[in-house]
Order: sequence, then C-alpha cells, then structure tokens
Amino acid sequence: ENTYNIIIIGGGPIGIACALEAEKKGLSYLILEKGCLVNSLYHYPTNMTFFSTSEKLELNNIPFISNNPKPGKREALEYYRRIASNNHININLFEKVTSVTTRSENEHLVKTSKREYVAQNVVVATGFYDIPNYLNIPGEDLPKVDHYYNDPHYYATQKTVVVGASNSAVDAALEIYRKGGDVTMVVRKPEIGKRVKYWVRPDILNRIEEGSIKVHFNSFLSRITDDEVEINTPEGQVTIENDFVLLLTGYRPNFDFLKDMGIRLSEDGRKIPEYDEETMETNIKGIYLAGVICGGVETHKWFIENSRVHAEMIMEHISKTKKDDN
Ligand code: FAD
Repeated sequence: ENTYNIIIIGGGPIGIACALEAEKKGLSYLILEKGCLVNSLYHYPTNMTFFSTSEKLELNNIPFISNNPKPGKREALEYYRRIASNNHININLFEKVTSVTTRSENEHLVKTSKREYVAQNVVVATGFYDIPNYLNIPGEDLPKVDHYYNDPHYYATQKTVVVGASNSAVDAALEIYRKGGDVTMVVRKPEIGKRVKYWVRPDILNRIEEGSIKVHFNSFLSRITDDEVEINTPEGQVTIENDFVLLLTGYRPNFDFLKDMGIRLSEDGRKIPEYDEETMETNIKGIYLAGVICGGVETHKWFIENSRVHAEMIMEHISKTKKDDN
C-alpha cells in the first residue's frame, strides 16, 4: 500500500505544482513534507512582500486574487492552502524524508521519519531555505543571534546588527529602523546588493546617506559576545555595543541529501546538480528535480515564477516513459 508511481519530496509551491500536474495525467503520487504546508513560505518574515506579481505565483492558472500588485506572505499562504485543500492534494505533513535508495531504474526506496515507501519515480522539490550560510565565527550560536528574521517589533529600542546586503537583510534593516530599533549593517561588499528590489533600493540608500541606518561596507563580523560585536572594517577593528544579531547571509540547498541519493553536483563551486534540461531527470533514472533546488548555490536563479514549468516537464516525461514501457 506504500507504493506510488511518484513520491514528491517537499510541499512548497513547486511540489504542489507537481502534484496538480500528476493528477492531470492520472499518475498516483504522494507529497512528503517535513514541516507544515508550504513550510519555507511559512517561515518567511511576517511583513514580506513578494517581488513577483500575483499572476506569476499562480499554479495551474488558478487565479491568485490579491488587492495589491505584489502579494504578501499571508495572502500566499492562503492561496497555496486553498489550492491544496480544493484539489484534495495527497500530502503527508510533518514527515521528513531521510534517504532515497535506488534499487533499480523504477524502484526507489524512500525512508522517512515515520515509515518507508517504494516509488517508481521521485521528484526532489526541497528548495533551499533550510540551511543558512553560517559565518563560522565565535558567538554565532548565542541565543541573541538568528539566521532568520521574522518581525520588527521584537527589536524595538534594541541595538541590532544586520549582516548582509541583499533583499532579506535590507528589508529587515528598514523594518527594524522604522520600529525604533538602532540598526547597524555589516556588508562584505562595497555597496548594497544590485538585486535588491528596485523600489526598495532607493529607500535603504537614503536611510544610509542620512545616517538613520549605520553601515560598515567592505567589512565583516569577526566575533559576537553577550553585549558586544567586533567588526573588521577597512579602518581596523571596531567594537560596538549590541543586543541582537541577524545573520541574513543567504541559505543553501541540502547538498548532502542530493549526493547521498547519487545525484552528481558540478565541481566548479556552483554545485549545480546534474539534470536533463528538457525532462528534469537527474543522472539517476527516475529521480527528478523541480524548483529552486536546481540552481545549486545560485539560489536566486530559480524561483516560483520561472520554475513552476518544471512540473509539466517532469510529468510529461514520466507519463511518456510509462506508456513506452507498456
Ligand atoms: P520551497 O518553497 O523551499 O519548498 C521546499 C519544501 O521542501 C519546504 O516546504 C521544505 O520544508 C521541504 N523539505 C525540505 N527538505 C525536506 C525533506 N528532507 N523531507 C520533506 N520535506 C522537505 N520567488 C518568486 O517567484 N517570487 C517572489 O517574489 C519570491 N520572493 C521571495 C522572498 C523571500 C524572502 C524568499 C526567501 C524567497 C522568495 N522567492 C520568491 C523564492 C521562492 O520562495 C522560492 O523560489 C520558492 O519557495 C521555491 O519553491 P520550491 O517549492 O522550489 O521550494
């Protein structure tokens, strides 16, 4: 009874897109999701706004109604939840996949935190939001340090250091400043990231210029203690008083999970998993990739907008392969 044509690992937007497409093609499937429905989105900052307009986040042409051109987190949670419930998506939540072992071309053993399954095909749609890029500096594990940012209220009146200069860091710095936090940014490069949302970039540049938000460019954090941080700047080491540290330096896919399955990663430092660009099948027959996981360390390359098509490509290939076999 634990045998499926397709096991989809990850119940994010792209895992759900795969489920809808499998349904259309009459293929039996099960999604296994280690957290809640669209777990990554659930852990995004409370006030985040998507950079995509709502149409571009739609799955299967199901309208995403949002009053603003760019929806927020709560609207997206509602949208994907309604899709999952209205279409009776077959999904097990809070069940983590721990390993996938290939026994033969169309027999993969999928082990989870709860039980085992056998699947003819496996789609890995596990995203990139689970593992932060650690700085590996003293004090990084203190309770006042976080690699995820949620709500600005928490930091009101507090001396907060934000490390990073891309969207997550800039959004956090601006929100915390506007709730009365004392914000210092520490930025490795000489400027604020070029990919920062085009309507947000002038805001942060102006706040920095007027001195409302302090910043150290070409600098890195070298040590965190209970009430201070040390920053290496071009002018030498600076020590400042500090209450909280947000290390918003990006996230990376779980490469060991892919490697343990036998999926090869590029050796040019980008760690791009090996897959066929037309079918999304990896070097292991019957194991497919979908969504942001395809980008290796380049986590900005694929997003909902441009990777929802993976679902069609994969299910087309699986149903064709199945027919050819018969
Ligand atoms: P995810 O949404 O990350 O889903 C992967 C799922 O797999 C997660 O729910 C995770 O819990 C689960 N999982 C992982 N490992 C396991 C395991 N071993 N077993 C079971 N389950 C597992 N994209 C856009 O297109 N437009 C935007 O405006 C946009 N804004 C963004 C804003 C922020 C702050 C961030 C961080 C990202 C944004 N993105 C945006 C990127 C977008 O969120 C991702 O592209 C999208 O989530 C990708 O969907 P996915 O299904 O591939 O991965």
